[in-house]
Amino acid sequence: MKQTVYMMMTALLCFACSGEKNTTTFDYNVEKFADLGILRYQVTDWDSLSLNQKQLVYCLTEAALHGRDILFDQNNRYNLAIRRTLEAIYENYQGDKTTPDYEQFVVYLKRVWFSNGIHHHYGEEKFLPGFSEAFFADAVQSLEPSLIPVREGQSVDAFLTEITPVLFDADKYAKKVNQDSRLDVIVASANNYYGEDVTQKEVETFYNTLKKTNDPTPVPYGLNSRLVKKNGQLTEEVYKVGGLYSAAIAKIVYWLEEATQYAENDQQKTVINRLVEYYKTGDLKKYDEYSIEWVHDTHSLVDFINGFTETYGDALSIKASWESLVNFKDLRSEALSKILGENAQWFEDHSPVDPQFKKKEVKGITFKTITAAILGGDCYPATPIGINLPNSHWIRKEVGSKSVTITNITEAYDKAAAGSGFTDEFVCCAAEKELMKKYSSQTDNLHTDLHECLGHASGQLLPGVDRDGLKVYSSTIEESRADLFGLYYIGDPKMLELGLLDNPEAYKAQYYKYMMNGLLTQLSRIETGKDIEEAHMRNRALIARWVLDHGQEDRVVELKKENGKTYVVINDYVKLRALFGELLAEVQRIRSEGDFKSAQMLIETYAVKIDLELHKEIKERYDKLGIAPYKGFVNPVYEVVKDKEGNITNIKVSYTEGYTEQMLRYSKTYSGLPTYND
Ligand code: ZN
Repeated sequence: MKQTVYMMMTALLCFACSGEKNTTTFDYNVEKFADLGILRYQVTDWDSLSLNQKQLVYCLTEAALHGRDILFDQNNRYNLAIRRTLEAIYENYQGDKTTPDYEQFVVYLKRVWFSNGIHHHYGEEKFLPGFSEAFFADAVQSLEPSLIPVREGQSVDAFLTEITPVLFDADKYAKKVNQDSRLDVIVASANNYYGEDVTQKEVETFYNTLKKTNDPTPVPYGLNSRLVKKNGQLTEEVYKVGGLYSAAIAKIVYWLEEATQYAENDQQKTVINRLVEYYKTGDLKKYDEYSIEWVHDTHSLVDFINGFTETYGDALSIKASWESLVNFKDLRSEALSKILGENAQWFEDHSPVDPQFKKKEVKGITFKTITAAILGGDCYPATPIGINLPNSHWIRKEVGSKSVTITNITEAYDKAAAGSGFTDEFVCCAAEKELMKKYSSQTDNLHTDLHECLGHASGQLLPGVDRDGLKVYSSTIEESRADLFGLYYIGDPKMLELGLLDNPEAYKAQYYKYMMNGLLTQLSRIETGKDIEEAHMRNRALIARWVLDHGQEDRVVELKKENGKTYVVINDYVKLRALFGELLAEVQRIRSEGDFKSAQMLIETYAVKIDLELHKEIKERYDKLGIAPYKGFVNPVYEVVKDKEGNITNIKVSYTEGYTEQMLRYSKTYSGLPTYND
């Protein structure tokens, strides 16, 4: 399972990274086009890895990049033909490059790269070219014929006849995945997991027959194959060495085998070997064995995902798209999690909550965060920020799973947004702007850590109270509790004592950001006229509006309007902290007693409705900033450094490659699949 940034909340947008890090300016924003923003991420602490670990990562990144074409072909059978045609035009076109047609052509190519095909990566619908059919035909015909990826023996004219409607006809391959239950979802989906003449009924019958009803450990049938009809018979074309996508998989296997010599320990070596066996045989039993070994590998610093993993791309969730992510443990956040864990009891004992609702013995929750080193396949360029695998139900239950958050990706999102003019537009005063600049990232991370490690772990239910008694209000109350625990303690001198913050003013950055988000800026993500629905958003509105209301008499926090723009002004940070403590005590009481009525009252009063005028104003101001709704990343470049004798002495990472450069390089270096795989 993947956690995407759309499920994530800006207040919890980033994890580790301490204030003194990243002092050199790093440009997180690369470029923007259509509805997409291209960002860059930093491989934090790369040089803390040993040479051996770096070599391991290097081999795994090569394995991660060699699967790119597989995903293109899985998304639609014409994607490779289209990408290769567009790239040939891009690199060889001799015509006028200043025309609107040409400009639109470049945008379209960039979108195809981004989506790994002709369908929107998020909305699933086909996006149409902004250039004319005539331009396209002319451009193709102007090329050296050998540059055009025609089928064997096919003329350029016949090629154009075949491919033009795939680009320009809105009804042809209209949706990559079509979930409309009134339709045959297999026929209506434009992906390439099934032969074009295969129906939903046939797919369901085929796989229901394979699934033995009483097998307690079923393999994920159909995960790694295309189901096609041959001579009227349904048959699976398995993705494996010697099977479908063999050329790409063989390269992946080569680099995985290279990686084994740098494995950190035997368990990790076993993981890689199992994966290689699976790629060579296509046997899903071996895939399950690999998954189990992977769950058991918890001690290695370096870890990776490489394979046919997530099934979001198939309307029936049977077939998996290829993806890869190479990463290593974020040691700083692990250290932080340890400090908090060791002091968990102190925090519990000193919280402003009624003693009867406190845990006598509290254990901090450890959580893992990782640093991404490369994104590949369905993780590139749009990427999840958290991953929880494997997906097999019985393995999750019997063996367990690994759940991680990708620190440097969330950090890049946060830092990129900081450069968007957002702070200047929404933050009221010079002092707060300064604080945000200095401490926003650091305190965001810390607040998230406090929320995850301590907030959710704190407190207890009174005996006999029903865990699910708060019903629909349960998750909003739970998130509020964790957020408030974090807010209360981030302003505590204990933070300085434990070395988690180095300035007694730093917490104010978090207080300001939290209030601004809860009262104003999070509204930008809700459609005008709608209520607040999502639990994390409700939780933030609840906290921010409650303290605004309860601090009214002392003017602790105020909303001020200047030149038609509303701003949050915080007059008294000390009293604000006391109010967070007061609400924490109340929310914990509600949770401990299972007080449904009070939960309902709090939430319905503070967390649901939106003032329409204010909502419109926020959305307008946000729109003017021109922040792209969807984002993706370019990868860093790894370079092997050798001495005179040819020994590898280091692997260097650099961040200067642009989006177009990278895509073209990948299309040359990591593109071994035939254009047509049918
Ligand atoms: Zn939470």
